Amino acid sequence: MNRFQVKKVAVLGAGVMGAQIAAHLVNVKVPVVLFDLPAKEGPKNGIVTKAVEGLKKLKPSPLGVPEDASLIQQANYEEHMALLGECDLIIEAIAERMDWKLDLYKKVAPHIATHAIVASNTSGLSITKLSEALPDALKPRFCGIHFFNPPRYMQLVELIPTPTTDATILDQLETFVTSGLGKGVVRAKDTPNFIANRVGISGMLGTMREVEKFGLTYDVVDDLTGKKMGRASSGTFRTADVVGLDTMAHVIKTLQDTLSPETDPFYESFGTPPVLKKLLELGNLGQKSKAGFYKKVGRDILRFELDSEEYIPAGQKSDEVYSRMLKKPAAERLKLLRNSTGAQGQFLWSILRNGFHYAAVHLATIADTARDVDQAMRWGFGMKQGPFELWQEAGWLQVAQWIKEDIDAGKALSKAPLPAWVFEGPVAKAGGVHTAEGSFNPTTGKFEPRRVLPVYERQLFPEMLRGEGGTRFDKAGTTLHDDKNIRLWTLDQEVLIVSLKTKMHTISPEVCEGLMQAVELAEKDYQGMVIWSGDDPFSAGADLESTLPAFIAVGIAAIEDAEGFMQQTMLRLRYAAVPVVSAIRGLALGGGCELGLYSARRVVAMESYIGFVEVGVGLVPGAGGLTYIARRAAENAAFSTDKDLLKYLTEGFTAAAMAKVGTSAIESRKLDYLLDSDIIVPHKDELLYVALQQAKSLYDAGYRPPHRRQFPVAGRSAKATIQGQLVNLRDGGFASRHDFHIASLIANVVTGGDVDANTLVTEEYLMTLERRAFCELVQHPKTQERILGMLSTGKPVRN
Ligand code: NAD
Repeated sequence: MNRFQVKKVAVLGAGVMGAQIAAHLVNVKVPVVLFDLPAKEGPKNGIVTKAVEGLKKLKPSPLGVPEDASLIQQANYEEHMALLGECDLIIEAIAERMDWKLDLYKKVAPHIATHAIVASNTSGLSITKLSEALPDALKPRFCGIHFFNPPRYMQLVELIPTPTTDATILDQLETFVTSGLGKGVVRAKDTPNFIANRVGISGMLGTMREVEKFGLTYDVVDDLTGKKMGRASSGTFRTADVVGLDTMAHVIKTLQDTLSPETDPFYESFGTPPVLKKLLELGNLGQKSKAGFYKKVGRDILRFELDSEEYIPAGQKSDEVYSRMLKKPAAERLKLLRNSTGAQGQFLWSILRNGFHYAAVHLATIADTARDVDQAMRWGFGMKQGPFELWQEAGWLQVAQWIKEDIDAGKALSKAPLPAWVFEGPVAKAGGVHTAEGSFNPTTGKFEPRRVLPVYERQLFPEMLRGEGGTRFDKAGTTLHDDKNIRLWTLDQEVLIVSLKTKMHTISPEVCEGLMQAVELAEKDYQGMVIWSGDDPFSAGADLESTLPAFIAVGIAAIEDAEGFMQQTMLRLRYAAVPVVSAIRGLALGGGCELGLYSARRVVAMESYIGFVEVGVGLVPGAGGLTYIARRAAENAAFSTDKDLLKYLTEGFTAAAMAKVGTSAIESRKLDYLLDSDIIVPHKDELLYVALQQAKSLYDAGYRPPHRRQFPVAGRSAKATIQGQLVNLRDGGFASRHDFHIASLIANVVTGGDVDANTLVTEEYLMTLERRAFCELVQHPKTQERILGMLSTGKPVRN
């Protein structure tokens, strides 16, 4: 396949989606020009400028760092059409009106480069109809590219070809969207709302119907249909509020306008629910208008009540018995729910059944295989499992029988029977739609493997659906050591891989022992070592709980030993004879952050959250974190003519004292948790591939560990300066006495303690100061209050 180089992208439309797509392109270092209509008054780029400014304030942030908004080139259709010719990809994201889109296509077509791909982000208009307005030469390079809101965070992008789309173009676009943007691509057929919104929104409408039928309240429904059910934690109604009720109404309208009882036997259930109609009438559009199904007043959450049209207190939880049922294995869970007599249990079974029923009836028309539907629901709707996976896990034929009985008894949303392939042929024989051979395609009647594209070779362990073939990362390769804390293994006999197995991949003394052993092995037999755990997070930090028994039995000496051992482990990693590469995704907090910092290199997924959070539990970074801050300041000063160390300490000191966490890999780099030489990878499933490459190329380049050298510290005068600022914060009521105390200890370590400015110190010296500060705090009653609070409630205690 020809390499499709995306040097620059144009996004047409600076609305909710267009502006955020442009922001994400900036995140992944793709130059982007954002277009909108010329403003009627003031500067012609007015509309785009406003949208770009808006990006800086939006939450969750569409940008890695807000100031990068300035990297978006601003343009309008009156002055800047020539810029289109510089772009390899044009993404149209203007308002959802066929006539407006067609008009725009006519306007832009003459300016588009002859090799460029053009794609529409429409949520539901026919891609084929849109393509008809294009000149013939452009038609093969046109398709749908459906992002989900918010595009930085939602994994799914649906690509939708028309009958005239060139197959190579689609492969090229899939490659770019996957590796370049870090997204999960599902190819959809050109049917109304494509796959995820078709299944997802009809599911939400079905849920709303069942809510009315069973007389449940929104808070109870959200409690049931969120995390407990393995779905997005915002449940059903809060998700609608977050998406925006107007946006949701738009997607519903597409279902109503483009489908009919003939094309969709569930059509009758697509009526706009009365409560949604009322909320739209009232202009209560959800989060964006601060009121929707819910409203926050002060600290209270209220819910809308249709009868009175008022907001009343919310916060009701579901019955405990259903939470327990939802924790059972799939087969038992579905049986218990189906047989339950309570309204909540019946409701749960009904919405699951409706979901299975809808997906099965429509599979052949909306998707190629069952895999596309399940991936779309995972990536587009935040479900842990798609409908087919769950159905299969619970027992294919048994569940099919239950659905059939409900259809026959008139309990289902539609009388449409399940397709024949559910009960007979290969699916019935295999006990489901996902097999080692592939996923079921009802059109060909075969199980089809995943699409093969070179880009997927970079995903050594892609996210698998239940029932699919393929080796999981925890069983792959050659195992060199395996216990309940850590696994040491290799895929290629060249690089040793270390995977943490503790809960949240916390670092216990046993994990440190495993890391020490890993370095020994790597130095002896391998080119390098990669720390990669296969699933989130990278590491939530030191395991506080594991040191408690020793602390109680032996006292502070036990903690000092454990801390010292962690520090030794970090130094061992840093001075290993072979390169150690940390492959980070998700959280890398406290000790997890230190593990990264003491590696030779970091390969980091864009969605990583790195930082020192110890202050939250009344502690200081104690496994080399503060030592790193001091060393880094000395290194930065060494490269500059300005040798005032305090200046280079401020950023690191503030980050540790305020428990700052980088909200993206890009921000973590700004906070100095990552270096410029570290590599940010858009797609989390490519981490291991890139990290292995990095380890090998460092080795090939003749890797040697850094010199163990002394470096200057800022000394007591710098400490006094910091201390003075801390006093102001404390006396101004901005920091508690305990926060002041902790920050003072941090200042003491990072400046090197009671020494003259520019005194040369070793890492070991600073680590001793660090350990002392840590041990002093562990014995402090206010720190103990914070630790116990965190362990029992998971929330920080402010004292
Ligand atoms: P929006 O209303 O926020 O923005 C639309 C933009 O189009 C505005 O900046 C407007 O100035 C511009 N525009 C309006 N009329 C125009 C015209 N005649 N010519 C050129 N530009 C015009 O819309 P949005 O929510 O960003 O949606 C954009 C597209 O993305 C739509 O096709 C929508 O269906 C799709 N989409 C939206 C979401 C979502 O959650 N909002 C999700 C996925 C896809």
